[in-house]
Amino acid sequence: MVELQTLLLHGDDSNNRVTDVVPPINVATTFRYDNDNLIPWKDRDNCDFMDEFPVYSRLGHPNGVRLESIFSQMLDGYAIIYSSGLGAFLGAMVHFNPKRIFMGQCYHGCRGIIGLLKRNYGVQSFNLEDIEEHAEKGDLVHLESPVNPFGTCLDIADYSRRAHAKGALLMVDSTFAPPPLQDAWDFGADVVMHSATKYFGGHSDLLSGVLVVKDKESASKIKEDRIYLGNNIANLESYLLLRSLRTYEMRIMKQSESATKIVQYLYQHRDEYSKVLGKIYHSSLQSETFVKKQLRGGNCPVFSITLKSEELCKRFCGLLKYFQHATSLGGVESLVEWRAMSDSSIDQCLIRVSIGCESATDLIEDMANALKRLQN
Ligand SMILES: *Cc1c(COP(=O)(O)O)cnc(C)c1O
Repeated sequence: MVELQTLLLHGDDSNNRVTDVVPPINVATTFRYDNDNLIPWKDRDNCDFMDEFPVYSRLGHPNGVRLESIFSQMLDGYAIIYSSGLGAFLGAMVHFNPKRIFMGQCYHGCRGIIGLLKRNYGVQSFNLEDIEEHAEKGDLVHLESPVNPFGTCLDIADYSRRAHAKGALLMVDSTFAPPPLQDAWDFGADVVMHSATKYFGGHSDLLSGVLVVKDKESASKIKEDRIYLGNNIANLESYLLLRSLRTYEMRIMKQSESATKIVQYLYQHRDEYSKVLGKIYHSSLQSETFVKKQLRGGNCPVFSITLKSEELCKRFCGLLKYFQHATSLGGVESLVEWRAMSDSSIDQCLIRVSIGCESATDLIEDMANALKRLQN
């Protein structure tokens, strides 16, 4: 297989339909049938023909197909693209239809979907510690690693063993460490999901998600479900995401390296900010051996710190010059978020930091200045 950066630029060459070097934005919702070759729906075995001959854009459209070509290769499986990360999560829930779901700390929206399934359909949810006691065949363990908002890792191989011992499947939300940082398949994942809104999109201007499975038949069924869930990626977004993917590897590597440098700075200088800075959470500060094995390609570009009061958190976010105070992560622009703004269940003195593509030196200086101001 070609290397990632080449794949990102050429993984969809076989989907070319016109001579344009850059694929056109297709806004059509409906596409003409070929009157010389009319095959009724009942005579089709599956929906694969739509990759070449689109019918209606909720079912599939040219730039969505291109995305699936690239993602299937880069994520080493069969990829299905969605209108958001939560769309991908819902797609997985509908297809695998587990009676019991096991989840720990994870994205609040995934918990929200489980809440809906519990309310309407009697699905049960448990914590990750309950796998041995409650999991049965066909259940699903949902693991987020690295985990939001900390950017620290959980041992995927360990959860895969525990899930599989009970006949359950392991789904890994790998949004915080997309390739080449982490490959969840190596540690026994059965399904992988990403919010493409974050690093794949990378410019804070589109929503998308991707689900990846290892067998073609499941992928076809999941794609067919997507027709009726109505959550395929939109035409314009699919173009934006395709454009973003062209530069994805350069961005993620820089973001990962910068985050590691900045965490190193904070950790080494923590005594200088003793009146202000509390804990620092990041995969680079974890000493367990599985962490480096899992994050083979680099650390998570997100980390968290705690400050010593809520008041300090508010002032810190206002003192920064380059870090904008907003939720979300993964974009080229660095962000901080006082997590109390969007999460009532987390330490109310926690600041999540998403490192963008600015110079790490400038980001360190910016953060150091803000901490110095607070310290004095
Ligand atoms: C953002 C996010 C999601 C949800 O993705 P959307 O694209 O916002 O729907 C799911 N999991 C993780 C870890 C995320 O960060």
